[in-house]
Amino acid sequence: MGYTEFDDDLPARIKEQADIVQVIGAHVELKKAGVRFLGCCPFHNEKTPSFSVHPGQQFFHCFGCGASGDVFAFQMKYHNLDFPTAMKELARRYHVEIPERPMSPEQQEKRRRRQLMYAVNEKVVSIWKDCLHKSGLAKSARQYLEKRGIPLNIQKQFGLGYAPAPESAGWDFLGSRLKGEEHQIAIDLGLLVKKEKGGTYDRFRDRVLFPIYDRQGKVLGFGGRIIGEGQPKYMNSPESMIFNKSASLLGLYQQGDAIRRSKQAILVEGNFDLVSLVVHGCPNVVAPLGTALTVQQLQLLKGYAEECVLLFDGDAAGVKAAMRSVPLFLAEEFAGKVALLPEGHDPDTFIREKGLSPLEALLATAMPLPEFTLQQLVEEHGLTFDGKNRIMKALQPLLKASRSSLQRSLLLSHFSETLGVSVQDLGAAMVVPKPSAPTAVSPLLSPVKQQKPEQLTPLTASQKRIVSHIVLYPDAVPKLEHAGLREYLSGTIGEVLLLQLGVLLKGSDDVTPEDLLGVLPQGGERLFVSDILLSSSADNTGLSYHGTDGEIKDLLAKLEREDLIQKSKVLEQEICKCRSENDYEGQCKYALEKVKVSQELQNLRKKNVIFE
Ligand SMILES: [Zn+2]
Repeated sequence: MGYTEFDDDLPARIKEQADIVQVIGAHVELKKAGVRFLGCCPFHNEKTPSFSVHPGQQFFHCFGCGASGDVFAFQMKYHNLDFPTAMKELARRYHVEIPERPMSPEQQEKRRRRQLMYAVNEKVVSIWKDCLHKSGLAKSARQYLEKRGIPLNIQKQFGLGYAPAPESAGWDFLGSRLKGEEHQIAIDLGLLVKKEKGGTYDRFRDRVLFPIYDRQGKVLGFGGRIIGEGQPKYMNSPESMIFNKSASLLGLYQQGDAIRRSKQAILVEGNFDLVSLVVHGCPNVVAPLGTALTVQQLQLLKGYAEECVLLFDGDAAGVKAAMRSVPLFLAEEFAGKVALLPEGHDPDTFIREKGLSPLEALLATAMPLPEFTLQQLVEEHGLTFDGKNRIMKALQPLLKASRSSLQRSLLLSHFSETLGVSVQDLGAAMVVPKPSAPTAVSPLLSPVKQQKPEQLTPLTASQKRIVSHIVLYPDAVPKLEHAGLREYLSGTIGEVLLLQLGVLLKGSDDVTPEDLLGVLPQGGERLFVSDILLSSSADNTGLSYHGTDGEIKDLLAKLEREDLIQKSKVLEQEICKCRSENDYEGQCKYALEKVKVSQELQNLRKKNVIFE
C-alpha cells in the first residue's frame, strides 16, 4: 500500500513512458511488419503469428483469440494483476513517480525493512551462487548436481547456490559476509541463527540452495537440499515478513511463461523433480514448498493455467495427497487432474530413466480429481451396501466444497452413476449429513439387490435390449419402472441409466436420448449410450414398438424369467459347493432360496402363456 488514490493523469503519464512494444516485447518475440509489430499470441496457443502490437495507437490485438487492449490490459492479463497493481508495477519499472500518502514512522520503518529483506536475500543468492560456481569449497556440490543431471544453464536459470559445509568453511560462512544491519536482517530472515551465548551461526550448511522467487523475481526465501548425510533432507528458510510458504510456488517465476503457453501446470512435490522435468523438456511445472497444496497456491496458478495436473508418486502417500487436494480445487473451480507414477518412481527418476515421451503419455492419461477420488473410494470400500454408505460419507466434504450449483450437479451425477443412487437421493443425503448412523441413508440404497461388490454387473443380452429401449424411448421409463424394471436391472449400468432418466423425466416430460447423453460425464456410461444411439438407426434392439401396457408386461415377464433361471443356476452351484464342504446349514439356506425361485418361475408361467 502506501499510495494515494491514483490521480487522473497518472495512467496517461505511465503510458507515455511505458512503451507498449517494449513492455510486450519483454515477453513476446515481436517482428516489425509495416507500422505494427507481429508475434505469437501469449494468450492462446499458435504457431503462426496473429498477435499485433500498434505503437502509434499504443494497443495490441489478437486475431486468433480476440484479446486486445492497452499496455495496462496486457499487464493485467499477462501477469494476472488488478489495475492498480499493474499500474504500480509499470510506474516503478519506468520511473514514473506516484504521489505517496503520508506514512506514519512505523509504516515507513516497516517498508524500509521489507526492502532491506529483499536486498539481503538478493545478496545471499549471489554469495551462494559464487560459492557454487567458483569456490573450491563447492566441489562436492558441483559433483552432486552433475550426478543428478542438472546442467549449468539450468542451475543458473534457477539461481542455484551452495552453502558450504562447516568442516571446511566454518559455521559462519554467510554470517561473516553480512555486516551491520544486513546481519540483523539475515537473522530476521532466518538465514542466521542466534546462539545463546551471543553471536550467530549459518542455518544452511552443506546444502544446495534454491531461491524462492515471487512472480516479479524478488527473492522471498530459500529451500535447501543437503548434499551429504544428515537430516532433514530438505529444509526451507522460515517464514518472515516477506515470505509466506503457502502463498509461494517454486518454479513459477521461471516457468510461468511455459505454463501460460501450455495452459497447464504440472505440480510435482520435490525441488529436484521440478528441475529435472525442465531439464528433460517438460517446462510447465511448479512445486509447492514441501507442504501440502494450499488455496493460495491454486489461486496463483489459476492466473497462468486452465488446469493443474498433480504428478505424484504412486504410493499410498501420493494417493492421499491427491485426494486431500480435491476440496481445494473444487472451491477454486479450478480443473485438477492426477497422474500417478509407477511404484518406486518419483518424477525425477521416471523422466531420467524413461524420457519425455513416456511422461507425456502418462500425463495424457491424467484423471480428473473427482473421478479419481471416487475410484479410490470404490477400491477401498467396495460397492457393497456398507461400502456405498461409507463412500457417501467420504464424499460429503467434497460436495460441500464445490462452489457452483453446476459443479455440484456434475459431481452428483457422476457419483450417482457409480453408486447406483439417484442424483436426487444422493443430493438429499449429502445436504443432510447424518454422521453417526450409516443406516440413516440406507433407504436410498435398499433397492439394490444381490449387489456384486466392486463393479457393475455386465448386462445379459436381454437386459441390453431393454436398456437400449429405454435409452431410445425415455417416455417408456415410468411404465417400465412401475412394472419392476429397476429390480430387473439392479446392479447394472442399466439401473444407473434408468435412474438418470428418471431424474430427467421429473424435470421435463419431453426427454430425448441426447438429453441423457448430455448429463452423463465422460466414461463408460456415456460410451454405452452413444453406442446405442449410433446403432439405433438399424433398430437392432428388437423392440421396435413403443409398447402398450400389455406388451411391456410381457416383455418384462420374459426378461424376469431369464433372470430367475440364471439365479436358479447360481443357487444350484452354491448348493453343490456347500455339499462338498459338508456345510449343511448353507445347503439348507440355498435350497430354500431355490425353492422360492422355482415358485416364482411357476407363477410367471401361469401368468404368461407366451413362453410355452
Ligand atoms: Zn490470441
